[in-house]
Amino acid sequence: MTLRLLIATTNPGKLADLQSAAEELPVCIEPLPALRTIPAPEEDGETFEENAVLKAIYYSRFAPAEIVLADDSGLEVDALDGAPGVRSARFAADSGLVDSPDANDNTDVWNNMVLLQKLSGLAAEQRTARYRCVLAAARNGEVIATASGSVEGLILEAPHGTGGFGYDPLFYLPELDQTMADLDPAVKFSLSHRGRAFDELLPLLL
Ligand code: IMP
Repeated sequence: MTLRLLIATTNPGKLADLQSAAEELPVCIEPLPALRTIPAPEEDGETFEENAVLKAIYYSRFAPAEIVLADDSGLEVDALDGAPGVRSARFAADSGLVDSPDANDNTDVWNNMVLLQKLSGLAAEQRTARYRCVLAAARNGEVIATASGSVEGLILEAPHGTGGFGYDPLFYLPELDQTMADLDPAVKFSLSHRGRAFDELLPLLL
């Protein structure tokens, strides 16, 4: 039997990542219907887990009896004491550079620019970072499972690659000699924080 999961995200990058998993597995992954008409909850948690859980609980109330999946994720840079972390989507806005999201939805570009500026002058060995992701699944306002994943990398001095989203063009994987933005979507998912979280979550739902 195919498991149906409704994803509560307006981020097309996250949705594309998760939908690439459905091609290989007995799952059907769809966006939560009418998500854009639902006011977004305030993401005021201090951890990825708190934010993923609050989003999953909140959005599951809009789709009775369905399993609703929420993703909270971000980038932790060691030289910035783990920032931007849960503030990854709002890094440039927090620094006062732009409103978030800006009118032309160039948020990713601004966020990457702020990241490069904050790391300028640092040598490669000081540019270590990781992506983290927590996935939470809820039904009728109750959490049924959570899972987490991470992937280690280095922040480049200039973007490379055209795929992915967010910080992907700056997130370099030394073992592959490629950035996340260089990777085929299925390859990205197989080794990414989101893919690892999904691999851990799925058996808890089947
Ligand atoms: P959230 O919507 O609060 O979970 O914010 C997630 C933010 O973290 C995104 O807007 C990106 O800036 C960043 N992020 C999370 N996952 C990825 C990824 O797979 N690639 C690139 N950036 C990511």
